[in-house]
Amino acid sequence: MTTRTLIFKENNRIKKCLKCGNNIKFIAYSDYCSEDCCEVWLVCNVCNYEATENLVGGRFEDVWGGVDDDNVDMAIECWNDAIDEKLKYEEN
Ligand SMILES: [Zn+2]
Repeated sequence: MTTRTLIFKENNRIKKCLKCGNNIKFIAYSDYCSEDCCEVWLVCNVCNYEATENLVGGRFEDVWGGVDDDNVDMAIECWNDAIDEKLKYEEN
């Protein structure tokens, strides 16, 4: 497993953590989910909440994985989508 600690500037790009409201400090994880596929995802580095956890297809999948800037960008998109999904679910 590969991890990378991320600290962003204040931004509107990353949706706030549903548990603690943080959108600045995250840890990016990359790990194999099968022989030839990796998952890359973000976890809140304040409360350890993971928006993509238990969400089918919620994490970014990549053949090589890793936590370079491009993959982190994709993981941010997945985080945002997952937050949207959860908010939608809560509204219903
Ligand atoms: Zn949090």
